[in-house]
Amino acid sequence: MENYTIIHRPDPISAELKKKIEAQLKQDPNFKEDDEDPHTVIVVGGDGTFIYAVHKFMGRLNHVRFYGIHTGTLGFYTDYRDCDLEEFMAALVNGQGEEVIYPLLQVRIGDQEYFGINEIRIENAARTQVMDVCINGEKFETFRGTGMCVCTQLGSTAYNRSLGGAVIDEGLDFIELTEISGIHHSKYRSLDAPLILKSGTDLIFKSESFQGALLGVDSDVYNIDEAKEIHVNIWRHCAVHMLRGRKVSYYERLKSLF
Ligand code: NAP
Ligand code: MN
Repeated sequence: MENYTIIHRPDPISAELKKKIEAQLKQDPNFKEDDEDPHTVIVVGGDGTFIYAVHKFMGRLNHVRFYGIHTGTLGFYTDYRDCDLEEFMAALVNGQGEEVIYPLLQVRIGDQEYFGINEIRIENAARTQVMDVCINGEKFETFRGTGMCVCTQLGSTAYNRSLGGAVIDEGLDFIELTEISGIHHSKYRSLDAPLILKSGTDLIFKSESFQGALLGVDSDVYNIDEAKEIHVNIWRHCAVHMLRGRKVSYYERLKSLF
């Protein structure tokens, strides 16, 4: 018996698609709807919907797998569009498909912790944010500007790409550090280029004051006024399991993005 739940974006096309999927699975004795304790989380919508679903099940990621169908263009979190519904359902019902694992970033501030699948951002729109960047315990630079973004391979096509960060090819086990509007002139200087790092790298952002800055974790934001040190690294204890039904090349996804 496969326990499932469906999460959809609240637009009419996604809602309609959800109804069709539900109607088909209700007829199948091997599937049982269970919104509390599902094994398969079916996601209907966009990459944003997928991120929402991952955060909804953040406490039990090792017990669930996500399977997405995209309304609109092709996404990074799904291999099917709404026009591929039949193929999408066939792969699910026939137990085809391969589980692929995607890592999460962990952010630690004192005893608070947060997890992101796309990226974490430290952003201060109110004033110049000064912070030291430490890589594996070594001070690397003092940054001045709006902030810093750390993304996963999956998140490299999201905010990171808007910041001029490199897109990281699928299958590469890296994280990327990108500046958000760094100040570079005769007095202040920092790397001023995206830095791609091994995924095992530990990052610490230290500042006398993060007053006015916000910590962005995927779709969520948190006040970090009182923070002094922000630790960021790949979380090794659980990850996101995604069911991939068919092979869509990474470059095809990338092409559909722009
Ligand atoms: P959202 O509306 O859920 O997402 C904003 C856009 O980013 C949507 O078009 C979404 O695609 C796309 N997106 C999300 N993850 C992606 C990925 N891994 N690769 C390529 N595109 C991706 O907005 P939100 O809830 O505020 O934030 C969610 C994410 O959106 C954040 O993690 C951030 O990376 C991204 N974002 C980017 C910018 C920017 O580029 N300036 C600004 C804000 C947020 P769908 O349409 O398929 O959902
Ligand atoms: Mn699994």
